[in-house]
Amino acid sequence: MSALAEAVVDLGAIAGNVRTVAAVTGTDLMAVVKADGFGHGAVPVARAALGAGAGWLGVTSAAEALALRDAGITAPALSWLHRPDDDFAALIRAGVDVGVSTTTHLHAIVDAARQVGVPATVQLKVDTGLSRNGASGDDWPEMVAWARKYEVEGGIQVRGVWSHLADADVPGSQCLPRQVATFEEALRIARHAGLHPDLVHLANSAAALSAAGTRFDLCRVGLALYGVDPFGASGPGAFGLRPALTLRTTVVNVKRVPAGTGVSYGPEYVTGRATTLALLPLGYADGLPRAAEGRAQVWLGDRRRPIVGRIAMDQCVVDVGDLPVAIGDPVVVFGADDAAPSVTEWARWAGTNPHEILTGIGARVGRHHIHEGAHIS
Ligand SMILES: *Cc1c(COP(=O)(O)O)cnc(C)c1O
Repeated sequence: MSALAEAVVDLGAIAGNVRTVAAVTGTDLMAVVKADGFGHGAVPVARAALGAGAGWLGVTSAAEALALRDAGITAPALSWLHRPDDDFAALIRAGVDVGVSTTTHLHAIVDAARQVGVPATVQLKVDTGLSRNGASGDDWPEMVAWARKYEVEGGIQVRGVWSHLADADVPGSQCLPRQVATFEEALRIARHAGLHPDLVHLANSAAALSAAGTRFDLCRVGLALYGVDPFGASGPGAFGLRPALTLRTTVVNVKRVPAGTGVSYGPEYVTGRATTLALLPLGYADGLPRAAEGRAQVWLGDRRRPIVGRIAMDQCVVDVGDLPVAIGDPVVVFGADDAAPSVTEWARWAGTNPHEILTGIGARVGRHHIHEGAHIS
């Protein structure tokens, strides 16, 4: 390994997770590969997910969608967050569906379609309670009316109607049934206006796995694709998902120190007895959250050991006690192995969610893709 730390991504786990989720939902799946595939590498993850039967790819930005096309991926794809002056012509030429949340964007998309001479394929987004993107209130019937007019004129084709849920990962959510009802009403309005969307979608991972009434034609799967249980179960989840990413490194220095030795900046940790410290060459610039100080652990040797003192930009220190450790010993920060800490635990230690830990893995960390059965050592 040439990088100081490495993210090993098992594409076999990605493929397995697609099959696991599809078996539960019975629908087509959109593999959500935004933010570089939640830090796993958008292109290899996209290929693995499509190979396992996912029919769609979902990304946030036009740039992310075009990067998939540049890599030669021609599968159906949707991008959903755009500036009004984005290059919609490029998306239309690339055959990427455009998520539309405002009439301002719709007008710009139709202008671009006129330039290109090809209708844009759009998926209209309704806000059902998240209060972020999507048309809400009177803006929805207005956007739908414009969309119908443009469809009749040949500027666009409305393929989909969709929305996003606020708290599907909270068991017994009060929000979710209200969002479903609002969504169904929005669909009625769209159909009444003369639209015939044949791709209706609402569910993210948590909803796809647990709320049958949210599944419609397609489920958009992010977290579960990467093998993280959206309900936070640690260890082998109830759904049989397998974490795809293992963040690993190597001990680069070892020292025996007496009691009373300060460790890292501050120092906020002082050894209570003679002990052995192992230095790891990754820190918050690589995605280890400083907020996990005092709780975080890694897998080193044959057990979990605590990170002690402040997590610095590039380094952190593990207290290994009296156990033998040598320069070059392998370390798993978090990973697929049940014994090692999980990304969900890291998220809890840092007071955040697994998404933030995964997307926070720094650019300096090497990415290494393996296929199921390949050996992680
Ligand atoms: C990120 C995202 C998803 C994936 O959500 P998960 O909870 O990770 O499955 C789905 N839909 C939209 C619109 C998103 O932005």
